[in-house]
Amino acid sequence: MKQSQLFTKTRKDAPKDEEALNAQLLIRAGYVDKVMAGVYTFLPLGLKVFKKVENIIREEMEALGASELLMPSLSPKENWTKTGRWDSLDNLFRFTSFYSKNEYALGATHEEIVSPTLRKFVFSYKDLPTATFQIQNKFRDEKRAKSGILRGREFFMKDLYSFHANVEDLDEYYEKATQAYVNVFNRAGIGEKTYLTYASGGSFTKYSHEFQTVTSAGEDTIYICEKCKIAINDEIIEDLEHKCPRCGNAQLRTEKAVEVGNIFKLMTKFSAPFELKYKDQDGSEKEVIMGCYGIGLNRLMGTAVELFHDEKGIVWPENIAPFAVHLLNLGQDEEAEKIYAQLSQNGIEVLLDDRDASAGEKFADSDLIGIPLRVVISKKSIEAGGIEVRRRNESESKIMTVEELINLLKK
Ligand code: ATP
Ligand code: MG
Repeated sequence: MKQSQLFTKTRKDAPKDEEALNAQLLIRAGYVDKVMAGVYTFLPLGLKVFKKVENIIREEMEALGASELLMPSLSPKENWTKTGRWDSLDNLFRFTSFYSKNEYALGATHEEIVSPTLRKFVFSYKDLPTATFQIQNKFRDEKRAKSGILRGREFFMKDLYSFHANVEDLDEYYEKATQAYVNVFNRAGIGEKTYLTYASGGSFTKYSHEFQTVTSAGEDTIYICEKCKIAINDEIIEDLEHKCPRCGNAQLRTEKAVEVGNIFKLMTKFSAPFELKYKDQDGSEKEVIMGCYGIGLNRLMGTAVELFHDEKGIVWPENIAPFAVHLLNLGQDEEAEKIYAQLSQNGIEVLLDDRDASAGEKFADSDLIGIPLRVVISKKSIEAGGIEVRRRNESESKIMTVEELINLLKK
């Protein structure tokens, strides 16, 4: 992509009403635009990152054997009264039709939709297990939406639902889903700081599990067991008498963290009200056992920004960067176009800064935008033997040929 085609511009200052560092940087660099508290537009650069995150998650969900569907955001009140959540979910957006006076909710989560849907297809033990997921926008009337894209009133979630004939089968799937989540966070570059965290369960299970990423921007407090590399959420630490549930270690380290994912054994909580049942091998009718698994896409993206930035701007992890290379043209139009074409032909994603701007401006914007490799083509670099390549997270640059750069990126 050529930067001259972008309608967005970088800006020196973040809007005054934006408190969160992730959103301040994302707005300044031109990734997102704030519409109101907790509601953001993904601008062209932001959408690139979003799609990278989305693809990683989709690949891992498909590797789990789940099939993708897309449910609506709009749903009828009756689905929510069936589970009691019309009244009990504080942050559910509810409203009344101007014409029919019927009441509706905007989806905050989709158990109320997916369960009655599966009821139309699951009849026998032979139809189980099965799993389905979507990547879709959710609406929640969050009381405090001050954490930038970490906490939206509208945000994207990947929600996966699994359906089983018995608890053993759910347990097995839950383990596999846990590993898939670890893969997602590793690939997205936040794995090292992300802990599988014991959190409160529902009425049926002792624990649920969250994936918590350590950052001062987090709203949660976790207790980390260094031996087991797991954590415990604040909300259950008293119940566990401040000890690791795996090894009993009482030397736990407290950190602020953000919940990037959550996995939960629902058991029959939703299959019961929606009468989602199956006929077992012995002919008896049983309720389907369910699990649910969520990841917040905006939240993951914002967490990466909280973890990876410096005073000059964002430093994207490679796999979720909007582009692999930021090519800065300093007065070498023809050469720059040639390199742009050559890299593109080799399947390398390049943002070409072809704007009529000063070198200083281009360098500053490049640091703010945070693409992993900055490549400069200038009179000076040509005289030195090629292009000047610098990693965003290093201060040293290196002169190399375009071929050498391509080889470096293909490794
Ligand atoms: P929180 O405790 O932070 O409000 P939650 O426990 O209500 O989150 P879940 O219902 O478990 O969230 O949703 C699954 C995932 O969706 C979360 O792990 C998180 O990554 C993401 N998520 C939840 N709420 C938001 C939000 N308001 N904005 C962005 N992402 C969110
Ligand atoms: Mg949660």
